Amino acid sequence: MNLFQLFKRIIPYIKPFRFLLVATLTLTLLGSLLAQVNAIVLDRTVDAINALVGSPTFTWAKAAKILTIVSVVLLGKEILRAGISFGQNIFGEKLRINISQKLSLGVVERILKYRMAFFSRSENAPGMLQARIDQGASSISRTIQNFFINLLPMVVSSVLALILIFAANVYVGLVALAVVPVYFWITALQGRKLKSSRKNMRGFNEKKSGSIMNILESINVIKSFNREEIEFGKQTELQYGFYGSQLSIRKASFGFDALKSFVNQTGTVLIIILTSYLVLSGYPGMTIGKIMYHIMLFSNVTAPISQLQRIFDDLNDALVYAEGYFDIVDAEGELEPTGGYKPEKVRGNFEMKGVDFTYPNGTKALHNVSLKVDSGVITALVGLSGAGKSTIVNLLDKFYEPDCGSITLDGVDLKEWDTHYLREHIGLVLQKNHIFSGSIEENIRYGRPDATFEEVEEAAKKASVYDQIVGLPNGFDSPATLLSGGQQQRIAIARMFLKNPPIIFLDEPTASLDAIATEQIKAAIDAIKKDRTVIIISHSISQIIDSEMVYALKNGRVEQSGDPDSLYREGGVYKDIVDASARSLNIEKLAQTIDSEGRRGRREEELGDSGQ
Ligand code: ADP
Repeated sequence: MNLFQLFKRIIPYIKPFRFLLVATLTLTLLGSLLAQVNAIVLDRTVDAINALVGSPTFTWAKAAKILTIVSVVLLGKEILRAGISFGQNIFGEKLRINISQKLSLGVVERILKYRMAFFSRSENAPGMLQARIDQGASSISRTIQNFFINLLPMVVSSVLALILIFAANVYVGLVALAVVPVYFWITALQGRKLKSSRKNMRGFNEKKSGSIMNILESINVIKSFNREEIEFGKQTELQYGFYGSQLSIRKASFGFDALKSFVNQTGTVLIIILTSYLVLSGYPGMTIGKIMYHIMLFSNVTAPISQLQRIFDDLNDALVYAEGYFDIVDAEGELEPTGGYKPEKVRGNFEMKGVDFTYPNGTKALHNVSLKVDSGVITALVGLSGAGKSTIVNLLDKFYEPDCGSITLDGVDLKEWDTHYLREHIGLVLQKNHIFSGSIEENIRYGRPDATFEEVEEAAKKASVYDQIVGLPNGFDSPATLLSGGQQQRIAIARMFLKNPPIIFLDEPTASLDAIATEQIKAAIDAIKKDRTVIIISHSISQIIDSEMVYALKNGRVEQSGDPDSLYREGGVYKDIVDASARSLNIEKLAQTIDSEGRRGRREEELGDSGQ
């Protein structure tokens, strides 16, 4: 992205604030005009005092008059300038904040409409996306502010001062003008020299902040393995690298600043010599006052230019970050597709035929998958981790589109379904459900924002979490993020109960629950699964054998399908998984324990009976 393209892209963001911009620019122009007042006043004062000194008509009254005028003009100008600069800064800041807000909101509104494939690309990992959006929004808005609040006034002030010098004397004007390209050249050199160091610095900064986060997140692992020293060593290495980069940037900056100051002083000396020569040789219009006048104007020419470096740095950053930002906003192809099909009633009969699917990173997750999921028939997807079970649910929820093959719901291709309408009718409970920061009530209500509080309570009861919520000091108002993993899972299930959809996808919903909660949830899910479409992905044998239809997957392929009993008799993947689960539960031993406990209980009962 170059500067021109950047500005073209930014214009729509500035447009709504054009009045603010015009106000800022007007103040800018006034400020630049006022900046020249000092030079003019000094020129006139020196000449007037010079004329008065040694003149036979000298009186203190005349001198006092000159000094009064000077004081009034300079102080008056200063008051005006303070007002203008205040207004300019406030308007500029308003402009920056407004635009930054528009940029941030614009991108959020946009990415919420993107399909899942966008978020599963590695370059769009949450942290990276957040960094690109934040850096983009802040550096673009800073550029706009820099341009209108800093750069433009500087250029106007510089050009105005140059015009005044030329108007006073062409030769002096030429000397002043000759210094400008030298200044620009040094600034460009400085920018080029510092570019790579600045890039390094950015890298170090990112690593540094990330590394402290890493330590904090895994502090228990670090401590349990006694790896404090290793972590400290890594930090030390980073800090030293950071220190080296920082110092080299500072060194180069100080060197260039000194060079610029030298050029500035050389220009000033040349202007003093030239003006003095013109005054001494009696050049028309050249008075002692002009020496001061030229020096001050010259400083008005160079002072703004010396600030250019900082603005160029910011602009360079903006060019880099703006590209990342606009890449996100412009991802037209990532918009979630939707059809217009919205039937009155969703029956919930899915059919997949010959579906292949590849994730955006190239992982082929499904191969020629065909299956049927009917309403009222509890369907289980079984397979080892990575077999493709969640991927099937992702496709049925229209999070992704298949590479080939077809997926229909109630006989209509998913592509033709209105995506929002479809999801309105699907309840998805995942192994790890995201709990939003906010109260427990808000989190459950997410399932149906217009639900009454009684309905929220009812949903919590069905999800066996009501008693635990009311036991908290703030009840339903307590922050949901403080709940344990199992409790959060039940909040997510309550959310689904509240939504009450005709289609339910349960992706290992009880994986992080204890046995008692699992039993309660199982009962609750059993109660609502009647007359609905239910797909359950589970490693829990009890849930699998309760289902009516099983698809056993292996490496993205459906290996077996049928009812659990016949599949088990068939042998193969399904039998292997069920047997392994039974072994891991140590079912025989468990059965013996339960059995012997039962026998003991019965014997005691009999003894009790005979003793009576
Ligand atoms: P299961 O649910 O059976 O454990 P998944 O459907 O989650 O399996 O995964 C199937 C395959 O797809 C695995 O190889 C997994 O690594 C891959 N996969 C899952 N999600 C993604 C994703 N978002 N991006 C890339 N690959 C993925």
